[in-house]
Amino acid sequence: MGRRKAQPNQNLCVACGVCVHQCPREAIAIYKGCYAVVDSLKCIGCGLCQKACPADVITLVEEAEVYHGDK
Ligand code: SF4
Ligand code: SF4
Repeated sequence: MGRRKAQPNQNLCVACGVCVHQCPREAIAIYKGCYAVVDSLKCIGCGLCQKACPADVITLVEEAEVYHGDK
């Protein structure tokens, strides 16, 4: 079973900070004022940041393939 993690598109993020305030796990920060970064160890994949992002640049990705690709 995979876990989803938020993944902001760092090229399109406008660093507005909306996602940072939405995240219940404090998993998002704005890196050097430029773009959002997600701490995948804290992210629970709730999707609140994705829904809130005014630029619609956050996607939720399955991490199963990353960590359990060999099954
Ligand atoms: S999916 Fe939820 S826990 Fe993960 S970064 Fe977005 S708001 Fe935070
Ligand atoms: S809400 Fe969207 S545009 Fe704003 S900082 Fe977060 S990822 Fe970037």
